[in-house]
Amino acid sequence: MNVDRSIARSIKDLPATGKVARLRRTAARGKPAHAEENMPRIITIANQKGGVGKTTTAVNLAASLAAAERRTLLIDVDPQGNAGSGLGIPRDQVDGSVYEVLLDGRPLAEVVRRTELKFLDLAPASRHLVGAELELAGEQGRESRLAQAVAGIAGDYEYILIDCPPSLGLLTLNGLVAAQGVIIPIQCEYFALEGLADVLRTIDLVKGSANPGLQVDGIVLTMHAPNNLATQVEDEIRKHFKKEVFKTVIPRNVRLSECPSHGKPILLYDVASKGCQSYLELAREVVRRVDRIGRAA
Ligand code: ATP
Ligand code: MG
Repeated sequence: MNVDRSIARSIKDLPATGKVARLRRTAARGKPAHAEENMPRIITIANQKGGVGKTTTAVNLAASLAAAERRTLLIDVDPQGNAGSGLGIPRDQVDGSVYEVLLDGRPLAEVVRRTELKFLDLAPASRHLVGAELELAGEQGRESRLAQAVAGIAGDYEYILIDCPPSLGLLTLNGLVAAQGVIIPIQCEYFALEGLADVLRTIDLVKGSANPGLQVDGIVLTMHAPNNLATQVEDEIRKHFKKEVFKTVIPRNVRLSECPSHGKPILLYDVASKGCQSYLELAREVVRRVDRIGRAA
């Protein structure tokens, strides 16, 4: 899918006020907003390709950060609502969701739910989000709705993760405009890089307009199987993207694919599994990267 031209046009002169504007000014000066007191690191997990491990990464990275006692919020902007069901909160069992936040201006704090993990909260999706792309299309400031909402609770969290749908529409765009960093999961398989150019182009577009401070926090290799193809794909991606690729590789691990049906992150399902250990390692790497950005400021 190519980047939607009308989206490209509409984010050009996106107005920003209040905290959002301050976040952007700070980022534009080269100082990451995370370095400011009480500011969370806001990371969007995006790849327009479906089934590459976005939600698995969002849920388990968020759970791993929470296990390290980092106050974390996971925002689900995917109508599929998989992040919520993976945390035991199915989208049909929520009163308020990100839909009302985006469409009705409802404060994010009002829809936030606690999870089984003390330091992890969830802002759930609902099936109504399916229509949000169309409903938002005619609205003012349609790409910055989430950014505005997040600004209202920024001080409550150290990390905010946003799980995106497999498209580059308005929902993903809201995720990119709200974030300081993007993590791109790539599945270690043939055609792994398919569509990646579109994601990177969209990130550049958002950087050049609505969100100058946006950066790629890293590419994470997922579902790595012990075979030659996966190793070749990994080598190619590392050669091309170098330091942007996280050292931690997420293996293909059956325990990771089982835990969503139990409504639990892998930490609460099988902490000893390779899948769990790899997401804990990824969280350590993310924290190190984010702390380094903060110290350099
Ligand atoms: P979508 O684009 O539909 O939102 P996604 O990119 O969020 O998909 P996931 O839902 O995280 O992808 O993963 C797709 C499928 O692969 C799921 O069934 C998930 O349980 C499984 N899966 C993800 N990561 C792994 C892994 N490391 N090992 C085994 N199975 C995995
Ligand atoms: Mg998903």
